[in-house]
Amino acid sequence: MSSPDPGAAFRELKFRDPSRARAMVQALHRLTADIGRPRVSLMHVCGSHEQAIAKYGLRATLPPALNVIMGPGCPVCVTDTREVDDGVALALQGVQIATYGDMLRVPGTVMSLADAQAEGARVHVLYSAGQAVELAARLGEPLVFFATGFETTAVATAAIVLRGLPENLSILSAHKFIPPAMDMVAATPGLAVEGFLAAGHAATITGWGVFEALAERHRLPVVVAGFEPLDILAALVKLLELVRDGTPRVANMYPRCVTKEGNLRAQHALWEVFQPACGRWRGIADVPDGNLTLRDRFAHVDARTRFAIDLAPLSRHAPHALAESCICGSIMVGAKSPTECPLFGGGCTPEHPVGACMVSTEGTCRIWHQYGGYPDLGGVA
Ligand code: SF4
Repeated sequence: MSSPDPGAAFRELKFRDPSRARAMVQALHRLTADIGRPRVSLMHVCGSHEQAIAKYGLRATLPPALNVIMGPGCPVCVTDTREVDDGVALALQGVQIATYGDMLRVPGTVMSLADAQAEGARVHVLYSAGQAVELAARLGEPLVFFATGFETTAVATAAIVLRGLPENLSILSAHKFIPPAMDMVAATPGLAVEGFLAAGHAATITGWGVFEALAERHRLPVVVAGFEPLDILAALVKLLELVRDGTPRVANMYPRCVTKEGNLRAQHALWEVFQPACGRWRGIADVPDGNLTLRDRFAHVDARTRFAIDLAPLSRHAPHALAESCICGSIMVGAKSPTECPLFGGGCTPEHPVGACMVSTEGTCRIWHQYGGYPDLGGVA
């Protein structure tokens, strides 16, 4: 009997079929020529989309006039310095902190949680919200779950809160809600984004219907996209068709996972625990309704209510000398690309990151550092 072929499943699914990819790239070239403008800028808001675009070299196959940029789609990158400072301050006060691995090296005003750990603070890495509950039960001492991420991970936090947290576990929420940030980018003068690719995983929760108001308000098309190379190319083709036709509506190109209504049970849990609030997105702006804060009913598990967070000790440390040169904010609204940063690949690397965009595997700088933004495909496109 022959051994199983590990690549068979992907070939069977045909999400990476080169001939289909070429046909879609040709369609993108035709559509861009039909539109006829020197520049057409489309924005996606998802680190997983940027990973796929960079990893498979898709940007190098696009027509020069088609500019596909990553917006504020990395949840780690948009976690504000003040939110990191809160976690660092608590850690330095002796409170044990648990958070996702990507958050460890994200710089706050003067230090990261990893720096605090090096000074003796106890910081634990989690892979899921459920592990925070298990860890709290094991430790038996006060533990703060520094909960970050967009609506997809906020739902997991909501689920553990609704199930009931151990007495010693609190939540420090830095969760964000992506649609208001898209709204803000669409309203930013000078960015000239003509359409959005929306993240398929977040839309499994919210449903694609959540983008209808945005499309209507800003007269911009939105296309929900999956994460395989052909998912992204097909979504770009649909988005360019809508731009060419001047049709500002929402299209769902990820119907195998996303419905108009989304996951109603998950939405119910999300909004039972959290409420939208205006909050700072790192390097970008205050985003109205962009933060998810715990409702008053859950104040008893809110770390900001349970602990007096003392930021004063942080003022004894000097900020990172190169931090002022970081242009993460401009990158996350699509105004600049990582290679325009003077520190990219030199003063700032994944091993020694200066800004948050170089820390997370979903950050644009980190992704471009790994794969390149416009790789030379040697004519294979
Ligand atoms: Fe910031 Fe580093 Fe990216 Fe420059 S390369 S924008 S310093 S994260």
